[in-house]
Amino acid sequence: IFDKSLGQHILKNPMVASGIVDKAAVKPTDVVLEVGPGTGNLTVKILEKAKKTIVVEMDPRLASELTKRVQGTVEQRKLEIIVGDFMKVDLPYFDVCISNTPYQISSPLVFKLLQHRPLWRCAVLMFQREFALRLVAKPGDSLYCRLSANVQLLAKVDHVMKVGKNNFRPPPQVESSVVRIEPRQPAPTVDFNEWDGLLRILFVRKNKTCSSNFKTTTVLEMLEHNYKTYCSLRGLDIPMDFDVKAKVQGVLESTGMAETRAAKMDNDDFLKLLDAFIDAGFRFT
Ligand code: SAM
Repeated sequence: IFDKSLGQHILKNPMVASGIVDKAAVKPTDVVLEVGPGTGNLTVKILEKAKKTIVVEMDPRLASELTKRVQGTVEQRKLEIIVGDFMKVDLPYFDVCISNTPYQISSPLVFKLLQHRPLWRCAVLMFQREFALRLVAKPGDSLYCRLSANVQLLAKVDHVMKVGKNNFRPPPQVESSVVRIEPRQPAPTVDFNEWDGLLRILFVRKNKTCSSNFKTTTVLEMLEHNYKTYCSLRGLDIPMDFDVKAKVQGVLESTGMAETRAAKMDNDDFLKLLDAFIDAGFRFT
């Protein structure tokens, strides 16, 4: 009956469902957004606490099952169901997001939430264990990656609960974890695309030095191309002896991070490096 391609693993343990909703500290004035309510085991608990609950469910069968579940209850008028793909719908205003998410959209879902405006107060989200551990990983941890740095640039992330596979029906293949995400307010002013462009290069081989990650032909060609575009847009001359490799290594050395490895760098290091590249006229997008 459940559609595997939609990641339909229903949370059957009511203690876990209550725990998730409690971690969100929903206020009676809050609008709560839930992604993929399924049969509504989390939804009914959210409805008890929030002023309004808006759910986005892709499977129309489950959406109508949820409609029936609340029909005739006092909470019925507090529930709004959007039938559609979370990644494609325009999100409404919300204060808090709670979701036992379909794991195949974990990463785009997090960034869609973090790019939404106005910013919300917190999100309590269930993910596959390894994805959750990547979200919270710190420099030096084995799971520290581009995702960790990107999410932590925009938000504070905490691991709040482990959830074993037997709490679901049917049980998924992997263990799960719940994380709590709180967006940084105000959001950092850095150009996210430039930031992510730099991190893509450094995390291709996170245990190599910055200097060596910046020596590949693909990276140097991209930087040279963008540098020339940047110069021509501003009517600047490109020096006859322009040597992209030397200029890049010069920037890296000026920051003292040429021999540092992404695996050990924190977000302040990445910001410092990005500023130095931007100041030197380099662009990553
Ligand atoms: N929240 C329920 C629970 O905890 O029991 C169900 C969780 S189940 C892991 C994921 C749910 O997300 C399913 O109901 C599935 O139909 C829905 N879903 C999958 N992909 C979706 C998408 N792109 N947009 C909205 N809902 C989606």
